Amino acid sequence: STFYEITPTFNLDEPRMLARLSANENPYGPSPTVRTAIKDAISLGNRYAHRDAAELIELIAEKEGVSTKHIMLGPGSSDLLEKVAFVSFPAGGNIVSADPAYMSIISTARALGAIWKPVKLTADYAHDLNGMKEAIDADTKLIYVCNPNNPTGSITNSDQLHQFCSDASSKVPVFVDEAYLEFLDDSQSHSMVNLVADGADVIVARTFSKIHGMAGLRIGYIVAQPERIASITDKVRSTMGLCSTSLKGALASFMDEAFLHECKSLNSSCRKYLVEEITSLGYEVIPSYTSFVLFPIAMNGQAFMKGMYEEGVSIRVFSIEDQPFCRVSIGTMEEMEYFVEVFKKVTA
Ligand code: PLP
Repeated sequence: STFYEITPTFNLDEPRMLARLSANENPYGPSPTVRTAIKDAISLGNRYAHRDAAELIELIAEKEGVSTKHIMLGPGSSDLLEKVAFVSFPAGGNIVSADPAYMSIISTARALGAIWKPVKLTADYAHDLNGMKEAIDADTKLIYVCNPNNPTGSITNSDQLHQFCSDASSKVPVFVDEAYLEFLDDSQSHSMVNLVADGADVIVARTFSKIHGMAGLRIGYIVAQPERIASITDKVRSTMGLCSTSLKGALASFMDEAFLHECKSLNSSCRKYLVEEITSLGYEVIPSYTSFVLFPIAMNGQAFMKGMYEEGVSIRVFSIEDQPFCRVSIGTMEEMEYFVEVFKKVTA
């Protein structure tokens, strides 16, 4: 792979940042109903949160059309990506994924001694499903698919992905990371979760960090075969890492469809504005279906990031085949306008 992140030499998380556009956070959340639910839950803080976890699991199971045994919660999907890596690579092996991909599970797999088998995205930034099928060998322990993909923001045709996951999971477990699923129109139809209901060895990950605007509250879940879930919970703790305030918040957020709809709608109008502005400056933005966009820039990546940072704008920079790309999260319209203003100045 020639893909890597150009890491900043400064702290993108500084409080003085005027527009935090580096971590694909939702600028509107958590919703008012979530804030109230969390306030009400504070007094229950003396109790372990197992019952709240069970309540959320029941709600998720009902929504996803599976049993409660098919669900595992974690403090963010990062925790579940890690736990799946821990149980998948006790003795090396390899992990097949797209390139570029969201590197979390791949980095953990590599740290445990596994080898990454990267398969380049197609020319239109979809997963190369035939290429990925060919990359599977006797040492493959896990296939990782991120749809929509990060850092590209692109999607893979869901019918083709469905077929791929169905075929491949008869040989190797397939992990499908759907962190940005809810930003798609008719999002549930793009999910691979019905494969789990049909018995396939597919692990679908979701998070409350993106559309729900709860990144700092740390709740995510996976949907997988009960044996697959048990293979994790036999070895590591599950609900012990969760807090009742966040669980109550997640329960409330699940019910707040109006808020989720509003976030999706604001995200798409701000994204549309941003893409039009950047395109009019002569840049080729990769069509995005998420809460961020990626586009190639025409200057040194480190210098670009520093220039933006000095004006209080945090973004991320990736190098793909020696070409630096800017990844900018979709913030509020005000933040998008400020980004465009600073971008013009820095690249002038
Ligand atoms: N998966 C993808 C594709 C992501 O982009 C992110 C966060 O940016 C995560 C997982 C992890 O999110 P969290 O641990 O907050 O659920």
